[in-house]
Parts: sequence; C-alpha cells; structure tokens
Amino acid sequence: MVNDSHPVTPSLEQRDRDSLLHPFTRADDFAAGRVPGQRIVQSASGIRVTDAHGRSVIDGMSGMYCVNVGYGRQAIVDAIAEQASELPYYHIFAGASHPKAILLAEKLIALTGGRMKRVFFGLSGSDANETQIKLVWYYHNVIGKPQKKKIIARQRGYHGATTMTASLTGLPNYHSGFDLPFALVKHTIAPDAFWAPEVDPRAFSQRCADELERLILEEGPDTVGAFIAEPVVGSGGILPPPPGYWEAIQGVLRKYDVLLIADEVITAFGRVGHLLAVDGYGIEADLITLAKGLSSGYAPLSAALVGPKVWQALQDGARTHGFFAHGYTYSAHPLGAAAALANIQIIEEEGLCANAAEVGAYLLQQLRERLAANPLVGDVRGAGLLQAVEFVAEGPPRRRLDASLKFSAQVAAFAMEEGLLARPLPVNDIVGISPPLMLTRSDADQVAEMLQRAIARASAMLSADQRRGAV
Ligand code: PLP
Repeated sequence: MVNDSHPVTPSLEQRDRDSLLHPFTRADDFAAGRVPGQRIVQSASGIRVTDAHGRSVIDGMSGMYCVNVGYGRQAIVDAIAEQASELPYYHIFAGASHPKAILLAEKLIALTGGRMKRVFFGLSGSDANETQIKLVWYYHNVIGKPQKKKIIARQRGYHGATTMTASLTGLPNYHSGFDLPFALVKHTIAPDAFWAPEVDPRAFSQRCADELERLILEEGPDTVGAFIAEPVVGSGGILPPPPGYWEAIQGVLRKYDVLLIADEVITAFGRVGHLLAVDGYGIEADLITLAKGLSSGYAPLSAALVGPKVWQALQDGARTHGFFAHGYTYSAHPLGAAAALANIQIIEEEGLCANAAEVGAYLLQQLRERLAANPLVGDVRGAGLLQAVEFVAEGPPRRRLDASLKFSAQVAAFAMEEGLLARPLPVNDIVGISPPLMLTRSDADQVAEMLQRAIARASAMLSADQRRGAV
C-alpha cells in the first residue's frame, strides 16, 4: 500500500525529464521516459565518465567530440581557477583586451604558420560559423562583388544549429520544422565513396569536384561566395576524404574565385592526427573554424581564423562601413582563453596528435579484424581517433538495412551496457567513436572488444529476412 504521508522523492532522471528541453532529442518520447540511454553524468576522470548511480564507462565520444585531453586535467582546472580570481570577465570591444586573449590569438596564428592573420573569438562552433558567413558577405561587399553571397555546403556536412548554420548543415531533419535552409545556401554531394562502389575512390573524388563545378555554373559563378566543409565529415557519418578529393575540390574553388571555409570544429587539435587537419590534407583555407578541442570543453570557446584576403577587406571596408559590426559579450572570455592555452600546452607536450594517429591506426586495424566476419559490417573507417562502423544488409548488392530497425541505435545501447559510450549517427546505420586522444593501445583493445560484443548482440537479434534487408 502506498503511504501518502511519505512521498517518494523523484529520481534525477525523472526531474530531468520534467524540466529540461534537451538538444536533438524527441520531446514526446523523452518526456514519457522512452529514450534509451538516458544518463545523468556526475563525474569523470581520464577516459571514463561516471553516472549518478556510480556506474563508470569509457567515454568513446569525448563528451561531444570535444574532451580531446580527457577528463580531470588539473593544469586546466588550475588555469581556469587562477584566471577566475585574477580577472573572471572582461570584454574585448573597441580597444579593450586582456592578456589571455592576446596570448591565445598569437598561439593560434602561430599554429597556422602565420598563414592566418587575425582571430575572432566566440563560444560555440555554431557562432564561429555564423561569424565566417558574415565575414564572407562583408568581404564580397568590400571587393565590389555584392552579388557573390551564396554559400555552398555539402549534404551530410554539420556546421551548427543556429538558423544560418543549420541551413549549412546538410541533414534534412535539421531543416524540416524550421523552413530551412535559407535560399542562399546550396548543397553539393557528400564525399561518401562507400555508396559509390561502382567507381574507384579517386574517380569518385573527381565526380565530387565535377558536381561542385556543375552547381556553381548552375547558380552562376558571380553569385557563389564560399564553400564550407569539414576536412573529414564528422557528425554526418565520419567520412575521411577519398584520395585526391581536396586537390580536385580546391581546383574548382580557385577557378571560380570561391572562398574556402574549413570547418575544423571536430578535426583540429589532434582529433585526426594533426593540430590542424588542413595541414594533413593540403587544404588552403581562407577561413578556419575552431571550437570543441580548442578548450577540450573545459570552458566554452570557439575561434574564426581570418586569412589575408579577408583581413585586407576588413581594413579596406572600415572606410565605408566604419567599425566591424559583429561580436559577442563573451568573445574571448578570459576563462575560455585560459583553459585553451593550458589545453594546447598539454596536447603539444604530451604529443597527443602523434598518439591519436598511432593508436587510431591500431584501433582501426583491431576493429577491422574483429568485425571482418560479420556480413552486416559494411565499412570500418576513420582518421586518427575519429572512427565509424557502417552497417549494411547482407549482400551483395550493397544496400541499407531497414531504417525502422534502428540498428545503429541498438548497437550503441548494447555498447553502453558493455561499458562504452558510442554514438549512433543521424544518417544511414553508422556508429561513431571519438575517444580522448591519450587513449592507450590497451584502452583501444577494450574499446574494440566492447564494440565487437555490442555489434554481435545487435546482429543476433535480427531475423534472416531483416539481415537481408527485407522486413
Ligand atoms: N561544426 C562542426 C564540424 C561540428 O561538428 C559542430 C558540432 O558538432 C559545429 C560546427 C557546431 O558546434 P556547436 O555545437 O559548438 O555550436
């Protein structure tokens, strides 16, 4: 019998469902407690996070692709605390600045070998990409080509969730419900060679460049201002570029005088084995977007790096437009800047880029060997410690599992039970992993083993028809 005089205190999970509107979460299912994987994360250390019930798992996603140096880094905590005592906040508008903003801007310019000329700070990848679009528009106004305002992004690209950056994002369910994308945004094909098995990957790269050129010509080269892309596609499926891709794409951009924005929100700071992925892939960007691994998520921070062409236009444009009318109260927030400086020092001193490349290659090989015998595993791919497993129906020919099976979500749910946080991606049937960069080979063995077990369990749940793609 229920004793009404002692009401049961609702669980944290229940209070969470009753109070928060969570990003990218189904409102109806979540409110009703039907979203698998609900977890209240209470603490973290190294590569592991611990929930409110004391259960610890490997964080195979580094939070949301951002805790590159892992959790519990006292040097970053101390840097934030010292900064908070000395100067918790100051703005950088109209002549004001503070030492950590200057040190960090100098550091980021140095990381580009001086190719980038100025740094504009924000708080998130989305706001930094908004800044980039305003810079592109401003640039074309100043150089006397005001009609060059369209932005080409890619299907499957992810660039943020504000109205403009959600428009750039090439995932249909980020548009429906909001009347997006904006008309100035166009999308070209994704660099997904896996679903073009009829051509070799190099020919597929040329196809991508041809498609981009066709779109520019169709829209009118005089109307296309910039192309935005991640060096390696992240949330939209973890797609390393096929061979020759960036060379071919950049040839087209140069031909039509289209600026290149490299969205390095996930790829920079060691994630794919380089401090900047543009250096790994021979990308000459006019603008570079940084966030996530810039501060490893210890404090919110983003940066828009400005190359020489746009920097020149900013100086020239001042004569017509006066001050550069853009900025945020928290641009170059001192706590974020202090965190980023300490974070970059750790990445450099511990050689985390090289470790991501080396342990990443090992993990990829482990996954490929362990998953080779499973006919539902279509592809195991990645760059550095950004990796994915894509699932398909038993073939040939190559085709997808029925989407209603939610196979990758099932794999992620089992992975969580095995002790690994992995992420079902919002396209096709793909599970992504992106663990902290100080992962060791023995950690990698554990990750591979847990994922292998999760995939085996999810595979065993399917009927023969479901495995063949018939429902
Ligand atoms: N760009 C890329 C490549 C991203 O992966 C993300 C976030 O995942 C963003 C931009 C948006 O960053 P934020 O969520 O910090 O606004």
